[in-house]
Amino acid sequence: MKFETKCLHEGYHPKNGEPRALPIYQSTTYKYDSSDHIGKLFDLTESGHMYSRISNPTVAAVEEKIAAMEGGIGAMCTTSGQAASLLCLLNVLKAGDHFISVASIYGGTINLFAVTLKKFGIECTFVSQDLSDEEIQKEFKENTKVVFGETIANPSLVVFDIERFARLAHKNNVPLIVDNTFATPYLCRPFEFGADIVTHSTTKYMDGHAVQLGGAIVDSGNFNWANGKFPEFTEPDESYHGVVYTEHFGKAAYIAKARVQLMRDIGAYPSANAAFLLNLGLETLAIRMDRHCCNALKVAEFLSNSDKVEFVSYPGLKNDKYYELAKKYVPNGCAGVISVSIKGNRENAVKFIDSLKLASNEVHVADIRTCVLHPASSTHRQLSDSQLKAAGITPGLVRLSVGIENIDDIIEDLEQALEQI
Ligand SMILES: *Cc1c(COP(=O)(O)O)cnc(C)c1O
Repeated sequence: MKFETKCLHEGYHPKNGEPRALPIYQSTTYKYDSSDHIGKLFDLTESGHMYSRISNPTVAAVEEKIAAMEGGIGAMCTTSGQAASLLCLLNVLKAGDHFISVASIYGGTINLFAVTLKKFGIECTFVSQDLSDEEIQKEFKENTKVVFGETIANPSLVVFDIERFARLAHKNNVPLIVDNTFATPYLCRPFEFGADIVTHSTTKYMDGHAVQLGGAIVDSGNFNWANGKFPEFTEPDESYHGVVYTEHFGKAAYIAKARVQLMRDIGAYPSANAAFLLNLGLETLAIRMDRHCCNALKVAEFLSNSDKVEFVSYPGLKNDKYYELAKKYVPNGCAGVISVSIKGNRENAVKFIDSLKLASNEVHVADIRTCVLHPASSTHRQLSDSQLKAAGITPGLVRLSVGIENIDDIIEDLEQALEQI
């Protein structure tokens, strides 16, 4: 199946007379014919649903669809993108471990990595993608276990050089994890460039309609967890009376462990209802993304020509620093988010935002409706000036998420707001 077809037909395959649309299995529990069968589920020798903190048929259908869209061997949904970012790391890292992340990532992820994980005893070194391979290599330590990046960074719109970081990670026998939220699997499939694990905030384009928070972790099945660096995968897990993940689950060791060990213990699993809503979004992802990309490029070109604008960041613009990387990683479009720095200062940026009539001021991006936000006073408020700079954010920076309205209406709105400055 081609991508558009997968969006509609993967994950749920109704048999004769069964509902055409994905049913919502609103049930926390499952019924079995024997205690022996339940015993086998707990021993992980029989697969099946046990309890909806670990899996549920509606959620499972969506997981299967997302895995197919990314070209992975398995996926696990989570209650939010933040939960996905946390669990994808906790599945590999423990107190005393270290990992490397590029600095140009989502502000919420920076807080998680720099502050909260530090309290767990897990240390992160942030690196700029502008550093040379040798300089990045120097940051690897004996206890470095993961490299992390974001395909198109929110909101700096730095395009991550996945292939290069995959090479650096693999040279050091550690996996590369990529947050593919902004690109979505429609525009980029990081596994094709060597990434080992992909995460998503499905709250953004994958849901697309601003109705349901969610996240996902997808496993390529390609990383060798038995390379000696990851004993948690190759030594018996006491909490499952001795299961060895690489032996029991083979290529699916990572995603199986994430579910049966971490999700069991932490419990950030979405409801059947949440998965149903996400599935509705996924069904139209391809056509929505085409319109987002097309509208955003026109808006970026329009804003670039305004004398009220200091600069526009959009990797689809020919003069953008990341244009070449965008051609390689997201050749069919760079999604709908644009960063625009309004000339002058913070006040001009706020005046511009507050003058918009069609575009609404929201703490959200990647919605079908055009929306706008001032990162320095909202999502990135907790960051220091140097962290802001590293994340590519100036005081006048406005994050504009271009929707799928008629392009003439969007541009007319921007035009009148710029005139108010
Ligand atoms: C929004 C976002 C997250 C966090 O996701 P939530 O669903 O809001 O928890 C993580 N990464 C990126 C790139 C995001 O844009």
